[in-house]
Amino acid sequence: MVLRKRMALLARGSTLSESDGMGFKAVLTEREDCKDRYSDSDVLTISNDYDYLSEGDIIRLDPVTGSMRSLFRRNSLHNTILLTEQCNHYCLMCSQPPKRADDSWLLKEAFELVDLIPRDTQAIGFSGGEPTLYGDKLIELLAHVKRNLPNTAVDILSNGRTFKDFEFAKKYAAVCHPDILVGIPIYSDDPVRHDYVVQSKGAFDETVRGILNLKRVQQKVEIRVVIHKQTIDRLVKTCEFIARNLLFVDHVALMGLEITGFTRANLDDLWIDPYEYKDVLSEAVSLLNSYGMTSSVYNHQLCTVNSDVLGNYRKSISDWKNEYLEECASCTKFVECGGLFSLAKMYKHSQYIRAFT
Ligand code: SF4
Repeated sequence: MVLRKRMALLARGSTLSESDGMGFKAVLTEREDCKDRYSDSDVLTISNDYDYLSEGDIIRLDPVTGSMRSLFRRNSLHNTILLTEQCNHYCLMCSQPPKRADDSWLLKEAFELVDLIPRDTQAIGFSGGEPTLYGDKLIELLAHVKRNLPNTAVDILSNGRTFKDFEFAKKYAAVCHPDILVGIPIYSDDPVRHDYVVQSKGAFDETVRGILNLKRVQQKVEIRVVIHKQTIDRLVKTCEFIARNLLFVDHVALMGLEITGFTRANLDDLWIDPYEYKDVLSEAVSLLNSYGMTSSVYNHQLCTVNSDVLGNYRKSISDWKNEYLEECASCTKFVECGGLFSLAKMYKHSQYIRAFT
């Protein structure tokens, strides 16, 4: 019963009795007429939008406003925990536009969430905003994760600049997490172009120094290059820069554009049809492969890439935002294809999506 105080009962249909709901902090039901049945608990009526909820998921409820947010889905391999919306970048294609307001409650919530996540969870991610702006508090969170989820792989999305401080990089390494990786974007080999994309002067130099410091303390780093109109011209040069100067990073991800956040506002300056750059993508992948680097092509549809990148192609779009077009139903490569972001389906996607027959 003590545990029930932190849980919500998901009461689908009308088969549950009042006693079934006893002791739970809240009862979630799809039926308005069930509201009086669970006098002991906060009762929230949920719409069909929450069909995906299932046993073991972790949610946050606000009984006052009646709002609910899903924080962890037990059956998903793509659980990413937002730590802050504050950031020292203002990227043209930011998917989580920065806010100035103090949102340190998100960090507190992350500590509590880690206590609740099952120990057999394969992987979790932390994102922002820029998580490293928390400094030592982020290090404390990672130590907390290591204690509570020792077998869970962790990835952190960061712009890498805080790691330019070697002392911070050493503190990060001192957590000694056995399976942790930082994903850091480099958008161009040209510092001016990179700084323009992230809208922050001096970003390129600090990011590269951060990557070098992380590798000095033997930490895993993934470089992420988002492909769009502002980065495509120098994509091959950027990969060459990475291969020549940062050959020791653990992974390079070449990523398609997600049509969300600032991307929607800056679409004319960013959008280029993936089909139109497929030969450049092939060249970039071939270059990274020739240097023996491990690289992946993320967020693309199989019908928009050349067959020579298939060895590097990954289905990468998180399950909760992954969709396909009607056309895809008859495609013989449906199972292998990563499909589209759901918002791409709504706003902008390649004009060349054609089913393989
Ligand atoms: S038609 Fe659809 S399923 Fe087939 S490759 Fe293209 S996007 Fe993928």
